[in-house]
Parts: sequence; structure tokens; C-alpha cells
Amino acid sequence: MEKVFSNLDASKADLVKAIQTVIGFHSVKGDPQPGAPFGKENKDALDFALAEAKKLGFTVKNLDGYCGYAEYGVGEEYVAVLGHLDIVPLGKGWTSPPLEGKIVNNCIIGRGAIDDKGPIFAALYALKAIKDAGITLKHRIRVIFGCDEEVGMMDMEHYLKHEPAPCFGFTPDSTFPVTYGEKGHVNIFLSAVLGEQPATNVIVSIGGGDTMNVVPDYAEATVRVTDPSAFIALSQRYTQREKCQLTAEGGNGNEVVIKVKGRPAHAMEPAMGDNAVSRLCAFLVECQLSGTLAEFVGKINTLLGRECDGQSLGIACSDEVSGGLTLNFSRIICKNGNVEVGCDIRVPVTVNPETIAEKIKGATAALGLKLEIPEITQPLYYPKDSFLVTTLTEIFCRQFGKEVAPMTTGGGTYAKTMPNTVAFGMAFPGGISKGEHEADEKLDLDELTLATKILAEAMIKLAQ
Ligand SMILES: [Zn+2]
Repeated sequence: MEKVFSNLDASKADLVKAIQTVIGFHSVKGDPQPGAPFGKENKDALDFALAEAKKLGFTVKNLDGYCGYAEYGVGEEYVAVLGHLDIVPLGKGWTSPPLEGKIVNNCIIGRGAIDDKGPIFAALYALKAIKDAGITLKHRIRVIFGCDEEVGMMDMEHYLKHEPAPCFGFTPDSTFPVTYGEKGHVNIFLSAVLGEQPATNVIVSIGGGDTMNVVPDYAEATVRVTDPSAFIALSQRYTQREKCQLTAEGGNGNEVVIKVKGRPAHAMEPAMGDNAVSRLCAFLVECQLSGTLAEFVGKINTLLGRECDGQSLGIACSDEVSGGLTLNFSRIICKNGNVEVGCDIRVPVTVNPETIAEKIKGATAALGLKLEIPEITQPLYYPKDSFLVTTLTEIFCRQFGKEVAPMTTGGGTYAKTMPNTVAFGMAFPGGISKGEHEADEKLDLDELTLATKILAEAMIKLAQ
């Protein structure tokens, strides 16, 4: 192990440079192109990662642009380390350019620094250190680069169609130590057709939010009212009372444009953010407007309110292992004569998400809303005393120098799609590297050094 660790110290500068380079790819999911199912930038990031891996001396394979891997060793079975090259949209509020990977205060700053470009490259360099130390293992080790973790996980579905599953795996796409439970997941869409609208006192348009797994930090609506200045005065009283960032300004004719700023957060912790869309809806309901759009906003506000636990929708629940159900009101969109709302719901690990879906069907049907549930994902739950959980926890706590218990999360990682796999790292409990899905996402260089050593030992222990 000493040789592996000294190899890692020697290659640190190269690893940092590689992470900075891969942050340069704006690999948000894009439109499919030949050989690039998740868009050109994702393909370019994958090509770069595999070229780097090849340069480091690994056998590599590209699975039709869906994902790819670098492999070391021999043996019938293999241990997998899975990470992803795709990123969520950059968002606003960065103090350092999100695609430059600059080092500020000993941290690499950039989208993907800790989620998940930094971690998967750390895994690649950990594997190189193992290879260069000439360690012989019972199983092969694969570092898998995915390209669709943030949106649909179609990459791993494709992978499992073409490759056997690993005997053990982990994904450094969460927090150390081990995540032994991941909540179930239900995405829902509620919509209505926009009919004829009255001439005045109506919502003309509304929009806000984009990515399902992010708390929306901006929303906007245009209304047409008989007395714009009275409406603006009403909005000012609302803003003062609620202490929120809502502004209203006169637009064309009798129109008023309302803008709301919130605070983004990951959908698995919606209470950490400030939801701009639910705020806008709550305000519009107080304005007592009429028309089909106002009616829809009213129903949505009744079902969702400003809550993050699904209480009004009748789905609030919790368990001891993973805590409470969370609900993120992700977005509202008007297009083609329709208005649609999307919500991202995370269900405690011991609750069947199908029963939650049934309750939602009942509540929405009662209000006459059209409901679509395109995705229901079952939870993941490995017993705390299973080999994978105990082995990884022991390695982490020893190297970290502190006892930390394994945990559960509302986040969904590749562990849900890949058999025999849990999330392991790469953020540290109470650590500096953080900001996934937020501005100024960062990776601390000292934490990176320790993490590569933890990942390397984990690969060896699982593969020997
Ligand atoms: Zn991630």
C-alpha cells in the first residue's frame, strides 16, 4: 500500500491538471447526435477521459458514446468504480468562471469539481497508482465514465445491456463514508390545457425552474390587470411581509411583470433552498386573478404550497433509516397552449414509492388535474453489516482518523442502477469540497489527496 500511496503523491500535479481540463467541457446533457447520445460536449468529455486513460496505460472501451471505461488486471470478475462526466447547468452566482477550474484558496473551482469529474479522475489516478505498484489482484478493476447521471441514467442502462455487472462496485458521487440507503424516487408532471382567458385580471404567462433535481432560483410571470400601480403596491406589501425577493414592474399597457429570486439547492434537500416558483405561485394566489392559468396556479398552490414534505398532497411520511419524504417543486412551464408543473419526490427507503404514486393519483384527480408519472425508482438499501458496507466504512474511518457511521441519502446515484454497488465519497463529512448543483462548486486539494488514497485502498480490498 505504501508504494501505491507514494505513486499517488508523485502523480498529484497531473491529476489536478486533468481535472481542470475536463471541467472545461460544458457537458450538460444536449441533443443526441451520431455517436453522441447525450450531446457533443458529453462525447468530447468522454473522448478526453478515455484518451487520458489510454495515455496512463489502460485498456479502454467506449460504449457507443453512452459511457466508457478503463480497465486493469485479470480475473473472471471485476470491481467497478463508477462516476460521471455530465454536469448540471452552470447556474448563476459564481465568483470564479465555472468552466475554468481555477485554483482559489487551495480548491479547484468549477462545475463538476466534486460532482463528479474530480472524483472519477481521482479514481482513474488511484487505479494508475495500483497498476504502477504492480499489485496482483484476484479481480479486474474498472473505472467507468458515465455521461447521463444527472438526467436519465440511460448510460448505465446501455452499459448493463452490453457488459456483465460487477461483483462489487462503488460510486464516489456522494459523501464519505458509505451510503447504504438511497431513497426511492418519483417524478410527477401536472398539467392543464389553457382555455379562453378573460381580457383583464389574468395571468398572461408564467415560467420558472428547469432541471428537475434542482430547487428553482428564479421565476417570472406577466399579469394583465385593471390597475397596475395598485397591483405593484400589493406586491410591495407582500415582499415586505414575506421578506422575499419578489419585484413587480409595469410592462406593456396594463401588464405587470413579476420576478422572483430564490436560492438553488439539490432537490434531495429542498428545505436548504428557497423555491422561487412556489413563492411566485403563492403570491399570485393572493392576487385573486381569474382565468384558466390562475385557476391552475391556485390548484397547484393548494396541493404543494411552500412545503418540502408533501403534507398537503397527503404523502408526507418518514422512517428511522432515511428520514422524511421530500418534495421539490422543480418547475412550471407554459407552452403550446398547456401549462405544466414538474415535481421531484424522494421517498424513504422502507416505503414503496408505488404507494406514494397511488396517493398522488387520488389527490390530483380530485382537483381535475392531468397527472403523468414517467419515473418511479425503487429505493436502495444494503444492510449495515454487509461486506461491502463494513469494508468501505473501515477503510474510510481508519484513513480519515475518525469514526463516522454509514448513512442514507435522498440522492440517487449510479448505485441504484448498478448491482452490488454503493455510493462511497468523495466529499468529506464536514469537509471543504462541496457545492454540487450550486455556484462555486469546489474540490479541496488536500481532501483530494486523502480521497485518492482511500479510493485506492478500497479498490484493492474489494478486488483481492
Ligand atoms: Zn453526481
